Amino acid sequence: MSIMKTQSAASVPGNGHHASLIIAIDGPAGAGKSTVAKLLAAHLGYLYLDTGALYRALAWKVKECGCDPRDREGIERLLADTALDVSHGPDGGMTVVVDGRDVTTTLRAPEVSELASAISALPAVREWLLPIQRRIGVRGAVVAEGRDIGTRVFPAADVKFYLEANTEVRARRRYQELLAAGRTVSLTETQNDLVARDLRDETRAHAPLRRAEDAITIDTSALDASVVLDHMLAVIATKL
Ligand code: C5P
Repeated sequence: MSIMKTQSAASVPGNGHHASLIIAIDGPAGAGKSTVAKLLAAHLGYLYLDTGALYRALAWKVKECGCDPRDREGIERLLADTALDVSHGPDGGMTVVVDGRDVTTTLRAPEVSELASAISALPAVREWLLPIQRRIGVRGAVVAEGRDIGTRVFPAADVKFYLEANTEVRARRRYQELLAAGRTVSLTETQNDLVARDLRDETRAHAPLRRAEDAITIDTSALDASVVLDHMLAVIATKL
């Protein structure tokens, strides 16, 4: 789907005085969710909830303890012994603290992505994170992004978007992000990882990645974030 740049976005100024909507953004890796979710949250004066960071934080702990992500009972014991805290800085950025340790800067590493993808298929992990996500978003004024926000975490969200983009574009975005973070990776390796993660997310039995029936789909393959933002703001303006 292509998007026309609309003028109506101008009627949603970024002054933080909007109704307390819950805005859900789902889609596969590299579709542009984080970029636009942050822009949208900043524009509306809303909280930005990056739910992938929560799965990544648990993955970090699994890595630290050397646990086997396939050992369901071991992971359940680990969950019972984990304290996860989320806070938001003045710039809207999310800080994630696991058992008293700030792990925010470690969460984007490829091995953490891989582990997050593996453990996110476990129902115990998803159920453990569900109330944490809902507690953060329940009062509204939140832009939450992930894989199952519109279908499971906030099925009654006021506005739901589903972002997608072709595989090459998504892989290149993730590759640039990793390069910028100083990682040595190849584009092919990045694309293979991303395709494998998408497949796991789409085919898991519990809360798989899928578009909510009432979500608005935006193909971001050829769109700048600012154009996607304008389109979203135009949709949101109709809900205020
Ligand atoms: O969005 P991000 O790439 O940071 O998410 C990391 C992983 O966490 C994803 O590959 C996905 O498997 C999982 N995830 C999920 N449900 C969410 C958010 C993330 O299963 N709501």
